[in-house]
Amino acid sequence: MWYSASMSSAQRIVQVAVPSPLPRTFDYLPPKSGPLPCPGARVRVPFGRRSVVGVVIGIVEHSSLPAARLKTVQDVLDPEPLLPPDLLSLLQWASEYYHHPVGEVICSALPQALMQGRPAIVSDNDGWVITDSGRARLGTAPTLRRAPAVVLRALAGHAAAADEASLAPLSARWRSAVRSLVARGWVATVPRNCLSQPLLRVADAPEASEAQTAAIAAITGGAPGFHCYLLHGVTGSGKTEVYLRVIARVLETMAQVLVLVPEIGLTPQLVDSFRQRFSVGIAVIHSGLNDSERLCAWLKARDGSARIVLGTRSAVFVPMKALRLIVVDEEHDGSYKQQDGFRYSARDIAIRRGQREGVPVVLGSATPSLESLQNARQARYALLQLPERVGRAQLPPVRLLDLRRLARRDGLAPPLIEAVHNRLARREQSLLFINRRGFAPVLMCHDCGWFAPCPRCDARLTLHKAAGRLRCHHCGSDTDVPSACPDCQGENLRGLGEGTERVEAALARLFPEASIERIDRDSTRRKGALEEKLGRVRTGAADILVGTQMLAKGHDFPNLTLVGVLNADQGLYGYDFRSGEQLFQRIMQVAGRAGRADKPGEVLIQTFHPEHPLFLALRQHDYSGFADYALQERREAQFPPYCHLALLRAETSERGNALAFLERARAIADALEPVPGVTVMDPVPSPMERRSGRYRAQLLIHATQRPALHRFLVQWLAQITGTPFARKARWALDVDPIDMH
Ligand code: ADP
Ligand code: ZN
Ligand code: ZN
Repeated sequence: MWYSASMSSAQRIVQVAVPSPLPRTFDYLPPKSGPLPCPGARVRVPFGRRSVVGVVIGIVEHSSLPAARLKTVQDVLDPEPLLPPDLLSLLQWASEYYHHPVGEVICSALPQALMQGRPAIVSDNDGWVITDSGRARLGTAPTLRRAPAVVLRALAGHAAAADEASLAPLSARWRSAVRSLVARGWVATVPRNCLSQPLLRVADAPEASEAQTAAIAAITGGAPGFHCYLLHGVTGSGKTEVYLRVIARVLETMAQVLVLVPEIGLTPQLVDSFRQRFSVGIAVIHSGLNDSERLCAWLKARDGSARIVLGTRSAVFVPMKALRLIVVDEEHDGSYKQQDGFRYSARDIAIRRGQREGVPVVLGSATPSLESLQNARQARYALLQLPERVGRAQLPPVRLLDLRRLARRDGLAPPLIEAVHNRLARREQSLLFINRRGFAPVLMCHDCGWFAPCPRCDARLTLHKAAGRLRCHHCGSDTDVPSACPDCQGENLRGLGEGTERVEAALARLFPEASIERIDRDSTRRKGALEEKLGRVRTGAADILVGTQMLAKGHDFPNLTLVGVLNADQGLYGYDFRSGEQLFQRIMQVAGRAGRADKPGEVLIQTFHPEHPLFLALRQHDYSGFADYALQERREAQFPPYCHLALLRAETSERGNALAFLERARAIADALEPVPGVTVMDPVPSPMERRSGRYRAQLLIHATQRPALHRFLVQWLAQITGTPFARKARWALDVDPIDMH
């Protein structure tokens, strides 16, 4: 439809989504002159006492407000829709599904730069770097006129090329300053392109295995339109190869592909494997991009010049002109769920997007979520299996080390130490997994039993011995290590339990000749540190790896033949209904790093509960067996996928108020007309009641049917929002919560 101000004499109203926590759009009169803005375009509108950038949702003829009270659109920023209709309606759907304010949902899908009103155009060629002679000049002569000096100094502080966005704020005359600096050879112009370019050597694809061939044929031979495939392939079965081949087929036409990966799955190695295989532009989208990079990648996805969009969670909302396939790698990964603000699941949105845009979706995992597995078992998804590793590689045998019978030193039982020793003798690599960073999770007084608590959380402080700090892993509080116990003044303070740092130190004592790489959030904070460490592992310079979760996934180290899991019991009897599933996935993923190439691998798991069914299934690499057992448990306890959940969380600065807020919310629910199949539970304090100095509580809603859940939530939230007590707590609704913390 073509909108024009002169189209009819009827009044036109512009509905605009603005970044506001109010759960609705706002009506404006069209601009005084010029064409009407189209849905999906940005406009600048007065909002309160400010002027903000918003997105047009629709043009209607009536507003619930009288025309005299409506304000007027100040500016139309885009001549055509920035968000295509499909995506705009997906975002509106998501806002309703997650009960999150539509303005925040839509505006958060746009790059920050666009929300600040920057034009939606990519400038490919204007990047500048300081040259060596520019640096030399900066050191010696103070004679530069002002603007050039400011620009030159700014460029000296830039690691990469600087663009217009970073130079323009420095001086109104930045452009002429740059020109004169370039003319003198102190600054060089470099082409900037946010797309990853193909690597010159385009890699040959290995010959696909029988199982891979079958999976590829199933996906590429499927009827056109939406279909969801669950690719369940054991670790090392070559799932990536299946994605690459299916993508190659899609790229034969002028189509685009969206590939989502978990937060820690987006490694340079993965990007390179795409760059080696395909000679097309790839937009890589993740949280580490700066505003200009994000804008550029977003626009190139939108105009179709990025044929592959490879990104983490937020990439699911990137507009794509010719989207024909969506891949969600490691679909079970918790990082697909945003844990604050707009709490969406990128995996679930990806499936919804595929449905709406009529494109196939491939979910891949060695350890699919129970929800996806259940969908496959009920034939809503097509299940494709890769039951074996590729080539001659075998799944590694798993041995349980019974900690009830074994003494440990610094967390290491003798059979594990011996296994590491054997690997060193054979010049093979070992990986020790412990899901805790720092030296020890607790600092304890051995005279009186005092534990160092976090002053702001119901949690203990972690001892970081090398840094000499006590840190809270929940709120970030960071203090000196006391020299004496504050309770008894004794000096017998010691770290209790172990983290990566302690295990690393113990290994260094046991194997002084070995080269050890510790990989956790502390040791990889510096930009590039992770890549350097992984590089040393790949070249074989590292003998032993000690690390957390960061090591568990995706990595393919052919010479790694031993995996040791140090604290397997963490989460075994967790309070969360998903703890068991997450524990199993974590261990199976990390175990999957062993023996991926020709040399056979082995996995040793230290546990106090070797008879637990979860470990018995792990020993058999029997994910389906585990899933049977876990799904049975879920069915009996009526948890997802056998029901649908929403969690109302509240927090306040006074103890008790969050709970009181939820009691009120519950009373409101009780007063509503009951919705069959929906049960409102009792509010309870959160498992960690105090965090960052705030008291937290939660209220679970349980529903047998999704539509009933949403009917209930709409009514209930409207009632809560409409009462003054809604301001008595900071609260948020989490639809399909993945953890109950
Ligand atoms: P997964 O993601 O299933 O754990 P990967 O995709 O990382 O497995 O594949 C494991 C290794 O096997 C990689 O090094 C990959 O290049 C290799 N590979 C995959 N498919 C084949 C094949 N058909 N023949 C030989 N090697 C393969
Ligand atoms: Zn003491
Ligand atoms: Zn804390």
